[in-house]
Amino acid sequence: MQERGMLIVLSGPSGVGKGTVRQAMLADDFRDFQYSISMTTRKMRPGEVDGVDYYFRTKAEFEAEIANGGMLEYAQYVGNYYGTPLKYVNQTLDAGRDVLLEIEVKGAMQVREKCPDGVFIFLTPPDLSELKHRLTGRGTDSEAVIEKRITQAADEIAMMANYDYAVVNDKVELAVKRIERIIESEHLRVPRVIDRYKTMLKHADGVSSSK
Ligand code: 5GP
Repeated sequence: MQERGMLIVLSGPSGVGKGTVRQAMLADDFRDFQYSISMTTRKMRPGEVDGVDYYFRTKAEFEAEIANGGMLEYAQYVGNYYGTPLKYVNQTLDAGRDVLLEIEVKGAMQVREKCPDGVFIFLTPPDLSELKHRLTGRGTDSEAVIEKRITQAADEIAMMANYDYAVVNDKVELAVKRIERIIESEHLRVPRVIDRYKTMLKHADGVSSSK
């Protein structure tokens, strides 16, 4: 039987650079996964291509897809729908290939519920880990600004708690390397490989008992 591929979910707060990191991952030689193209109701931006960057659909088409149970997850973001078509993900995982999703946090939590054996990676802004230094070191920000930053950081850390890995996006190439190492290590986790070894043993048993 074909071993199932691994679902990799790249997510994180808005503006952290998920799209840029995803594009760099797709361009990297290491690449050994398929990217799941999302569906959206937002307008196409210059240079974007339907079926490459997104499947651009009307609101009615998107809602019909939801009603048909065709979405693995979906969320509304800045007034538009974004979602992951279920069929491609299932077919690709069944064929033994890894699948990468690059989605916002509400959608990622839906996937976590449905696919708990996925790998959930939270991309963090570098200033989250340097927050204390930035807040106290500069001495230039007003109390209100500092307060706002602390609230935002608290929200982001609360979100992070739902993920398996936190990757700092200080430099895109570094973030990509960190994610690639995660993918590599995740493939070596015992729960992911043990069935293969058990099957091997079963065959070996057949060989020894037939002698
Ligand atoms: P943009 O409009 O800039 O391409 O994307 C806006 C946001 O939607 C980004 O945070 C991106 O990660 C998120 N996004 C893209 N595709 C999906 C998807 O299929 N599902 C969800 N939940 N979010 C998505």
